[in-house]
Amino acid sequence: MEPQRGILFVLSGPSGVGKGTVCAELRRQVPELVYSVSATTRAPREGEREGINYFFKSREEFENMIRNNQLLEWAEYVGNYYGTPRQFVEDTLEQGKDVILEIEVQGALQVKEKFPEGVFIFLAPPDLEELRNRIKGRGTETDETINNRLEAAKKEIDMMDRYHYVVVNDRVELAVQQIEAIITAEHLKKERQISRFKNWIHST
Ligand code: 5GP
Repeated sequence: MEPQRGILFVLSGPSGVGKGTVCAELRRQVPELVYSVSATTRAPREGEREGINYFFKSREEFENMIRNNQLLEWAEYVGNYYGTPRQFVEDTLEQGKDVILEIEVQGALQVKEKFPEGVFIFLAPPDLEELRNRIKGRGTETDETINNRLEAAKKEIDMMDRYHYVVVNDRVELAVQQIEAIITAEHLKKERQISRFKNWIHST
């Protein structure tokens, strides 16, 4: 049987919706899902590690990555660059493994242009007041940054209709279960199964 390519899953949604938490729990539940570590120019937060949470880059290094076409997508988000290293994603999919990107909305839309066969999941806040509180509640950012993140979130919610699925992040465990259901359903799609059956039909 010819090896199947992996599926690219893109988990995206507004700032403060809890993408990081949901993605971390999803990775615990589905260890075979390969997480793509992003590059960023923002400074590491306490406890963050190079190559685990992000590849931390200077602006110059990041701009070189853009110029050399090393990024599948990139976005400037609240004053910093964030981007997905291209080669790792392509190689991993080629090896038949599923990949998950946890990225903001502008980047997700760029990936959709290049990988229309990817599966785009929008993580939505249960209500907008809750979202506002979560953005404010992180406590590690200045007022200006918080306001910028809030404005960005409003624009991002407007982008929901470009995605294939919407998961409301009311309870993390439930959101993770629903994303697991999406992953299962995507693997069961006729398009991913049919060649195996066709080969059998034609070989007997
Ligand atoms: P944070 O600074 O809180 O880690 O991330 C800020 C935002 O950048 C989050 O919405 C996160 O999902 C997004 N992000 C992280 N990595 C990437 C990436 O590689 N590309 C894009 N476009 N966004 C990213």
